[in-house]
Amino acid sequence: MSENTNYKGFDFHCHIDLHPDPPALIARCEKERIAVLAVTTTPKAWPQNKLWMQQSAYVHAAVGLHPELVGERYRETDLLEELIGECRLVGEVGLDGSPQYRSNYEKQKDVFSRVLQTSQIHGGRVLTIHSRRAARDVCDLIEKHSEPDKVLCILHWFSGSLAESRRAAKAGCYFSVNAAMLKTDRGRALIKDIPSDRLLTETDSPFMSIDSRKSSPLDSIDILTDLAGLLGAEVGVTRQRVTANALHVFRFAGIGQK
Ligand code: MN
Repeated sequence: MSENTNYKGFDFHCHIDLHPDPPALIARCEKERIAVLAVTTTPKAWPQNKLWMQQSAYVHAAVGLHPELVGERYRETDLLEELIGECRLVGEVGLDGSPQYRSNYEKQKDVFSRVLQTSQIHGGRVLTIHSRRAARDVCDLIEKHSEPDKVLCILHWFSGSLAESRRAAKAGCYFSVNAAMLKTDRGRALIKDIPSDRLLTETDSPFMSIDSRKSSPLDSIDILTDLAGLLGAEVGVTRQRVTANALHVFRFAGIGQK
């Protein structure tokens, strides 16, 4: 990632490794100049993702343990902590308070607390965080275990209340917004309230569908256009704003520094 690269889009939360042909998709993102934070869902996926992406100037792999998988993969938390020592991008991590994951909620809190503490010790870590039905606890743990000059938190697909998003912004959090959020009144109100210097875009592909097809990082170009529409700004101005935010985030993680 160089300061002079002319980016067309930003996907700060994408599951490249769950797409059918990751190397082809990485090549496509490079050709189309889409910067991607590629999340993983288990620490065991890290070596393969690292291999695929270590040469890429656009697609950057993160090490993660998805909260929905903590129940069955709790034992991989030690490995996750170890890998945070070598990888400055971390995700997907966080909490899910939905009924089907409630039974291991305490384990999720333990894993997320350890992720924050480990990131705080190393410093210069960027986290992309899942917070479905758990926004308050996510904010509590971020505030308890980390400081924004050491750990940069991005709340992915945030669906908490306006009061909670304001609290998170005050704690230094960034927000990656997607097509689903841009479609609902609630999501739109939330996005409008986010400070402009904390706004990023994402697709959460391939999980999210757009017009009944699976989404891809290339959709982040349209998301930027829709975001500009919502904010009543020209798309060039919005792209510039998100580019500045994105460069700050990548620099925080030591990416793009020569
Ligand atoms: Mn995800």
